[in-house]
Amino acid sequence: MPRSIIEPFRIKSVEPIRMTTREEREGYLNEAAFNPFLLRAEDVLIDLLTDSGTGAMSADQWASIMRGDESYAGARSFYRFAETVREIFGFQHVLPTHQGRAAERILFTTLCKPGDVVPNNTHFDTTRAHVESVGARALDLPIPEGRLPAAQHPFKGNMDTDALRAIIAEVGAARVPLVMLTVTNNSGGGQPVSMANVRAVHAICREHGIPLYIDACRYAENCWFIREREPEFAGRSPREIARELFSYADGCTMSAKKDGLVNIGGFLAGNDAALASAESRLLILTEGFTTYGGLAGRDLEAMATGLGEALDEDYLNYRIASTAYLGRRLTEIGVPIVQPPGGHAVYIDAGAMLAHLAPREYPGQALVGELYLEGGIRAVEIGTVMFGSTDPLSGEERTAPLELVRLAIPRRVYTQSHIDYVGEVFEDLYRRRERIVGLKMLWQAPPLRHFTARFERLHQGSPLSEGALGRKP
Ligand SMILES: *Cc1c(COP(=O)(O)O)cnc(C)c1O
Repeated sequence: MPRSIIEPFRIKSVEPIRMTTREEREGYLNEAAFNPFLLRAEDVLIDLLTDSGTGAMSADQWASIMRGDESYAGARSFYRFAETVREIFGFQHVLPTHQGRAAERILFTTLCKPGDVVPNNTHFDTTRAHVESVGARALDLPIPEGRLPAAQHPFKGNMDTDALRAIIAEVGAARVPLVMLTVTNNSGGGQPVSMANVRAVHAICREHGIPLYIDACRYAENCWFIREREPEFAGRSPREIARELFSYADGCTMSAKKDGLVNIGGFLAGNDAALASAESRLLILTEGFTTYGGLAGRDLEAMATGLGEALDEDYLNYRIASTAYLGRRLTEIGVPIVQPPGGHAVYIDAGAMLAHLAPREYPGQALVGELYLEGGIRAVEIGTVMFGSTDPLSGEERTAPLELVRLAIPRRVYTQSHIDYVGEVFEDLYRRRERIVGLKMLWQAPPLRHFTARFERLHQGSPLSEGALGRKP
C-alpha cells in the first residue's frame, strides 16, 4: 500500500489556534456581515484565505534573519540575494521590491504606453490593474480547456498560441511591448504551464522581436508539475527545470510571498542593462535604493534562503501531494472542484454545488459563510462578488462567468489532520447543501468591492435560515 506523504519537517515553534464554538462564530460572522475579509484572524481556526505571505519560515530562514546586513547601500544580504536569483533564474539584473505588485508597476510603467496590448495566459488582478493603469490593454489568452472547470488537462495553464499569433497579427508587434506567462496560472485555478508551451510562446515572441516575461510567483510548483507530467523532464531536478524555463524569457516579476517562502518580499529581474537602469530610477523614487528596494536586509537574507528551499524535492513532493489530497477528499464527497487541483489551492465550483442559488444570490459567498460557521474555516469567493459589478445607470448586476470558492493552502503551516478536518466539515455541508440560503448585498464600495462589501441572508429568520444554521427552532 502506498504510504502517507508525511510533512517533511518537524515542528519547533508553535502558534496556538484558539478554539471557538459555533455560537461564537455566528456572532463574529454577523459582525463581519458575511465577509471573511472583515473577520479577525484570531477568530479563524483554519485560514485558507490566501497562500500569499502566510507560509512558515524554516529554522534556516530565521537564522538568516539574524544574519541580515542592514547597511543602507551595498549590504552583504543584497549580494547574497542577487547571486541566488542569478543562479536559479539566470537573469543578470536583479531589483528587490517589497512585493510582486511593486515589480509589476515598475515593469509596466517602463515598458508600456497607452494603446499597447499585453497578452498573458491569465493576468492576476494586480497585474491587470497595473497594465490598465498605464492605459494599455490586458488580454487573457488561456487554452480553451483553461476556461472549463470540469475539463481534465495536464497543463490547463497553457497559453493559446494560435490566439497569440492572431492578436499580434491584428494589432501589430509594435503595439505589444511584452508577452507574459503566469506560472502557475493563479487566476486560472493554479494550473501549470508546460515547457512545450513556454518554448512555443518563446518562439512566437522571438519571431516578432517581442520580449517574454514570466510572472514567476509559483515557479517552483510549476517546475514540479513539469517534472511529473511532461515525460521529457521525468526525474530532472526542479532547479534544472527552472533554469531551462527561465532561459526562454527576457525577465520576470516575482512575489516571494509565494514560492520565496517569506512573509514579505519580491523582485524584478531581466537581462537588458539599459532597461534595468531605467527601472532602477523608478525603484529609487518609490521603493528604495537599488540594494534594498523597500526591504530590510534581513528580509533579503530570508528570501535568498527561501528561494532555494522552495526547490527542494521533498518539500515540493509534499506540497503538491497535500493539495491533491484535499482535492481527492472533496471529490470523493461529491463536491465539484476545478479539475485537476492546482498547486497552491483547490477551487470549488460553488455554482454547481449550490445549484439552487442564482449567481445574484452569491452562492460562493454563501458557501464561504457556511464554511466559517460550520468549521471556523476561512476561504474566499472568486465569483460575482469579486468580479461582478453593478451598472450605475440600470442598477443591473453583471455576474461572473464562474462562481468559485478558493481554498488556498499556506506553505508548511497546516498538517494532514487539519486538512482531514476541512474534509469532514465539507462532508456535513455537502449533506445539507440544498438548505443553504443565498445572500443579499447590503453595501458595496467599488472598485475591489469584495474586500469591504456587507451581506445578510435572504429569508432571514425563515425555516430555511434555521436549517442552514443547523438549529431546531
Ligand atoms: C500574488 C501575485 C501577484 C502580486 O504579488 P503581491 O506580492 O501580492 O504584490 C502577481 N501575480 C501573481 C500570479 C500572484 O499570485
